[in-house]
Amino acid sequence: MPLSFRTPLAKLFFGAVPVLVLAGTWLVAKTAVDRLLYHDAVLTGRSWTAYLVENIKDLDDIAKGAKPSADSQAFFDRAQKAGQVFRCVIYDPAGHVRLVVDSLEKSADGRDEAKPKDAEERDAGAKKPDDDDDEDLAEHNPAAARAIALGQPLINAEEGEEPGRPEFFSEAYLPAIANGKTIAIVETYIDQTEKRNEFRRTSALMSGALLALIAIAFGAPGLAWLKRSNEKRRAEAHIRFLVDHDSLTGLINRNKLVDETSAALSELERTPERLALHHIDIDHFKDINDTLGHGAGDALLCGVARRLAKLASDHDRVARVGGDEFVLLQGRPASDGAIAATAAEIRRQLSSTYEVNGQTVNVSVSVGVAIAPVHGDTVVRLMKSAELALYDSKIAGRDGVSIFSNEMDEELAERLRLERAIRDALASDGFELYYQPVVEMPKSRLCGFEALLRMRDATGAIVSPALFIPLAEQMGLIDKIGEWVLREASRTAQAWPANLKVAVNLSPAQFARGELAARVERILAETGLAADRLELEITEGLLLSNSVDVLAELRKLKALGVSIVMDDFGTGHSSLSYLWRFPFDKIKIDRAFMLALEAEDRANAETIVKTIIDLGRSLNVTVTVEGVETVRQVDFVKAARCDQIQGYYFGRPMPQLDLAAYIATACLAELAAANEAAAPNRAPSDARPGLVGA
Ligand code: C2E
Ligand code: MG
Ligand code: MG
Repeated sequence: MPLSFRTPLAKLFFGAVPVLVLAGTWLVAKTAVDRLLYHDAVLTGRSWTAYLVENIKDLDDIAKGAKPSADSQAFFDRAQKAGQVFRCVIYDPAGHVRLVVDSLEKSADGRDEAKPKDAEERDAGAKKPDDDDDEDLAEHNPAAARAIALGQPLINAEEGEEPGRPEFFSEAYLPAIANGKTIAIVETYIDQTEKRNEFRRTSALMSGALLALIAIAFGAPGLAWLKRSNEKRRAEAHIRFLVDHDSLTGLINRNKLVDETSAALSELERTPERLALHHIDIDHFKDINDTLGHGAGDALLCGVARRLAKLASDHDRVARVGGDEFVLLQGRPASDGAIAATAAEIRRQLSSTYEVNGQTVNVSVSVGVAIAPVHGDTVVRLMKSAELALYDSKIAGRDGVSIFSNEMDEELAERLRLERAIRDALASDGFELYYQPVVEMPKSRLCGFEALLRMRDATGAIVSPALFIPLAEQMGLIDKIGEWVLREASRTAQAWPANLKVAVNLSPAQFARGELAARVERILAETGLAADRLELEITEGLLLSNSVDVLAELRKLKALGVSIVMDDFGTGHSSLSYLWRFPFDKIKIDRAFMLALEAEDRANAETIVKTIIDLGRSLNVTVTVEGVETVRQVDFVKAARCDQIQGYYFGRPMPQLDLAAYIATACLAELAAANEAAAPNRAPSDARPGLVGA
């Protein structure tokens, strides 16, 4: 992960700190080296001079102007070779030069030359003006002369300035004392250049090592800290991004869209411009997710997002506002026509094929459009209008565009309310089952109940399943709801007398997931209801698909011992072919025929009902007539020799609480009927098995 050197702290760290460390190390090393060198030079100067004083036996004579003895000369030579004493001057106690031995001023034969100075010559002032060899000590080095006068040595380390001379040397002045008397003054110059270079090399090495240690000690934690702070900064930036954006598509999210729409609406107040909100939903996205997997679903969403973003101009904003829902907020559209054209273009570009994980997927989208300020001058109102328009487009068959109109409002708002009620009921166990009695002819004997689903809306009023079941199917929730109905009905029926059956309605969607027979078997086992007491009602719609899978599933259900019922027979497609394609146990004649019996031209309805009953009889299928409300209708269907009747005449759908009373009344009625049969002279009683719930 690359580090960022752009923050002020990082600049300081990587700029000033190393410079300071380098300069500090150099300064410390230089000061230490200079001090060490100085002390070393002083010590060397002192010890060499003391050594000379000790070892030159004729020093006294030399100070008096005598030539050095051969031994002394040899000693000078050795000292020069061994100790870098490149110059030695001997003064008499008064500070006059008596001998100069300078290895850098070579004699003609290349040997070092000791130059003794004649006292008289000097006293006569014969010294050459440019020759400082002849200078008295007081002239040559007044400080040294003063120190010697006090019996003190004077030692200095100095930088050589003259060319050909050592770059760095020590200069020592030492009195030679014998018997408490100064007999000579010895001045030595010792070359310290090599030593200084060595010191500097060593110090450079040490400084380098020190810097390396500092770099390791501070650099590693410093880099780690820098890396951490960079990571933290990036994470913070990412969090800021996520607050406003959808992490999958990178588009802005609903919250950000609300802010932007709100800002754009405020702008509208000052201008005559308008704003269009295009709400887009991918049709049947759930199916793609379910069949191709969530990875493919995600890839499709990204593809849609990319195409939508391409369509957006500089004034537009594109957002993902829900699972498969997007919004294009169109800023400054030229006219209503331009808005409609944009919506049509969105549909055209998005309803197309997509390459998703190596597969070609055909997708359509529905678009709902609301225009501000006419369809809403607040964010909530505008979004709601676009959402209603989108629903309108869905109801109209999907893959289309709907522009909001005020008429949509009520109808669609109702639909939205219903959807919310369904979700709430599912989440909070808010569904109920009502049970409608079914009686057997000719004795009007109670033989079972049909379980009918109920849901309450926000006001507590019961909503008809005819309204909410198709919606739950569209919402993809019927499978879950249906399973609940099956379990609840089986559990309730299990407690009834064993001769009573329960009928449960099934939606085609419950077959789509497969393994319905296995689920029914599991529920029967769970609830303890005998399979032959369960009737499953299906409608012709299920068989329309001509699906082999549906027939196979129906056979499996029948094999469990469950009865399969053709519900609402005689309406819809009413193809007789269904009757021979599957061996139904029962057909229920739709209540539309009972309604038709009340009409003036009831003859046709009567004929059809009679024919269906006869057909059932010859196919050995039980026939139930639904919607029987009146005595006349009862008499008619009885005369037509139908097997069972279900209708308000014998009882309305009732809550579970009322069942016990109804069943008890039915049993009593049955008993009474049996008694009547035993005593035929008595007047017949009411044929209805129970009155509760009627
Ligand atoms: P369906 O299965 O044909 O149920 C019979 C409907 O006719 C019930 O309406 C019942 O109340 C009504 N009915 C019965 N006798 C009479 C009568 O004498 N007069 C009149 N006017 N109506 C009568 P409901 O309960 O409103 O159910 C309507 C439809 O909703 C049902 O028709 C069924 O298709 C569906 N449905 C109900 N419960 C469920 C369920 O749990 N699952 C599924 N998938 N569909 C259900
Ligand atoms: Mg039914
Ligand atoms: Mg029916």
